Amino acid sequence: MNFIDSHAHIFSEEFNEDFEDVLRRAKKNGVTRIMIITTEKEEAYRAMDFAQKDPYHYQVAYGIHPEYIRDFTEEKFRDFEEIVRLDAITAVGEIGLDYHWEKEMKEEQKELFIRQIEVANRLNKPILVHSRDAMQDTFDVMKAHPSRGLLHCFPGSIEMAHAFTKLGYYIALGGAITFKNARHSVDVCKGVDLNYLLSETDCPYMAPVPHRGHRNEPSYIPDIVKVFAEVRGISIEEMAKTIEENYARFLGEENATH
Ligand SMILES: [Zn+2]
Repeated sequence: MNFIDSHAHIFSEEFNEDFEDVLRRAKKNGVTRIMIITTEKEEAYRAMDFAQKDPYHYQVAYGIHPEYIRDFTEEKFRDFEEIVRLDAITAVGEIGLDYHWEKEMKEEQKELFIRQIEVANRLNKPILVHSRDAMQDTFDVMKAHPSRGLLHCFPGSIEMAHAFTKLGYYIALGGAITFKNARHSVDVCKGVDLNYLLSETDCPYMAPVPHRGHRNEPSYIPDIVKVFAEVRGISIEEMAKTIEENYARFLGEENATH
């Protein structure tokens, strides 16, 4: 079985000490492909250097996270444009809206989100969208500015998930589905079009049960996909295979089946 982690911050400092061990454990558990999310310029270049040696197994994404809106400058946007146009960058993200951390600057967040979508569209790269306490605005922006991509750690209802998949966006779910109070995550997993479902850790955050409260890492993906399979009433093999195919299609790889 091959597993996919579509959202992993493995170049964040939480992994400095045992980076090689983390990768070894992921490989041992069959987590074959990892989308490395980077949010700092230096981090992006380090991740690209690493991933370029093995581009099938590791993809790299870079974007200006909405949490950083207060530090935003045009110089940072120029850096962003320079980085995401590189071939070593597969996707633009995470980008989006976060009204949980930043309640004030909604208009500025929307404007930055739209500008980054436009760059991604010009480069024909998918977007990885972060949305927190901002579901309706996220949808409105993405409907008005069509692109392709995924919603990471999807926080919305099953009705919203359907609305996004109708626009062609993928829905990524993570460790939250293993939590006892994860009703909405379970509903989304149960009802979403299976061809649009992806798995992620969002490590080092959001560790699934039985690792909850500790640092998360890509090797925990099978714990998450096992719950997906239970919720859908299919085997974990079939679930893993579907997600692997979805990920290839999401990346726009040739020969990806539907
Ligand atoms: Zn993230």
